[in-house]
Amino acid sequence: MAGFGSISLQNTYRQLGEQFYSDQLPTKVLDPTLIRLNHTLASQLNLPVGVLETEKAIQILAGNSVPDDICPIATVYAGHQFGGWNPQLGDGRAILLGEVIGEDDKRYDIQLKGAGRTPYSRMGDGRSPLGPVLREYIVSEAMAALGIPTTRALAAVTTGETVVREMAQPGAVLTRVAQSHIRIGTIQYFSARNDLTSVKILADYVIDRHYREAVAQIVAKTGDGPYAALLTCVAEAQASLIAQWMAVGFIHGVMNTDNMLLCGETVDYGPCAFMDGYNPEKVFSSIDTQGRYAYANQAEIGLWNVSWLAQALLPLIDECEDEAIKVAEKILANYSLIFKQTYQQLLAEKLGFPGSNAEVDQLSLELQQIMAAEVSDYTLTYRALADCLAPESDRPYLNKIYSFPDAFQAWRQRWQALLAEQGVDLAIAHALMLSKNPSYIPRNHLIAEAIEQASQHQDFGLFNQLVDVLARPFEYREENKVFALSPKPEEEVKQTFCGT
Ligand code: AMP
Ligand code: MG
Repeated sequence: MAGFGSISLQNTYRQLGEQFYSDQLPTKVLDPTLIRLNHTLASQLNLPVGVLETEKAIQILAGNSVPDDICPIATVYAGHQFGGWNPQLGDGRAILLGEVIGEDDKRYDIQLKGAGRTPYSRMGDGRSPLGPVLREYIVSEAMAALGIPTTRALAAVTTGETVVREMAQPGAVLTRVAQSHIRIGTIQYFSARNDLTSVKILADYVIDRHYREAVAQIVAKTGDGPYAALLTCVAEAQASLIAQWMAVGFIHGVMNTDNMLLCGETVDYGPCAFMDGYNPEKVFSSIDTQGRYAYANQAEIGLWNVSWLAQALLPLIDECEDEAIKVAEKILANYSLIFKQTYQQLLAEKLGFPGSNAEVDQLSLELQQIMAAEVSDYTLTYRALADCLAPESDRPYLNKIYSFPDAFQAWRQRWQALLAEQGVDLAIAHALMLSKNPSYIPRNHLIAEAIEQASQHQDFGLFNQLVDVLARPFEYREENKVFALSPKPEEEVKQTFCGT
């Protein structure tokens, strides 16, 4: 059997050398059942939906059968976890089946997450409970629909087996798609072993796969070498990514260097969550006891992570360490600038301004201060502000789903005055706000309920509904109102768990 039907998978990563992976077949499971297949993504990947839905393909997606022309691997990496160095990590529960070329001519990894033990499993069972699989499916696809770079969910299957965590839960496998799964921690693994040859092989591969044109442009423009240019690309991608997370109220929760992809996509949807009430110090993850990965710390942590990439690339940037450090420091200084510019631009657009400037930035800051003091729902506040610019007949949020506390009154007047002062066309501002402020985010209480219904009662109705609604996050529909509401106090989810 070749690949998925007539589609054969490649594996260019495996060709880089044995030091980067272990050959590893998935472990078979008892009784796979397809939960959901992502039709849109399948066609974007040139994978025929009709084929993926066949019993043969479902067996592949569950890890029960492996097409004979592919060699699945588990990749090795290291990483800083919560600030502490761990020299030996790797795909402990994920197996890379291979790569496909998408409609956009880009290369994508197809990986099975929860597919059994590998040499990097340590004490783990290599498996994934159903809850984290559904959670990753919902949130990663919501992020994609919000236009934020992310790994994707191609399919989810139940295994017909039980996975034991605090209690026994149904097992599942997620088919994860990424532009690649190479992490800051992958480069760190080889750098820490002083294996400069492998660092160079990886860096060249990442440039070729993700940043060929961008690196060439930076080299031509700045005179920097290709590895400094690679660092520039990754730093920019991380800065921009984190700004985008924060603009929608997303908290990643486990920003370890092994969870940061060099391609700039969001990965690892373990303890992540979207904020309901605005609180810059918000932490959901049960294991983040110090608040290291709190909402407002994310940009700084991104810089800390990219600094470790810089450290690993230093010998490639320049033979002279002092010179290499100078170049790296220049690039890292630019990270903060790009983060700030992107974040302020996004905040400006959320308020209907075409761009950021000192007055608009100040207005955004004041809004945040009021939201923090009132703990007002982050998503609803912005969406209801958009309604303020709409005709009375077209305001589904204002005073229906969300009413502004008095504390917002003076601020709202200043906002409207500044729109006028800066000559912003209100119809254009309204349209911009509707395209930047989602109605639907994957709210924790809904995810929790969808997981409970699926795990306890094998009822995937709410899961499917959530995925469908979140695929169009900016299109408010009255019949989907319940998905837009903030949780009632008794529904609020205060903590999330890694789910490993
Ligand atoms: P994470 O917290 O998901 O970033 O994972 C950290 C490390 O633990 C990685 O090396 C994972 O591959 C490994 N890991 C997580 N869950 C499991 C599991 N159930 N079985 C084996 N390894 C795991
Ligand atoms: Mg991880």
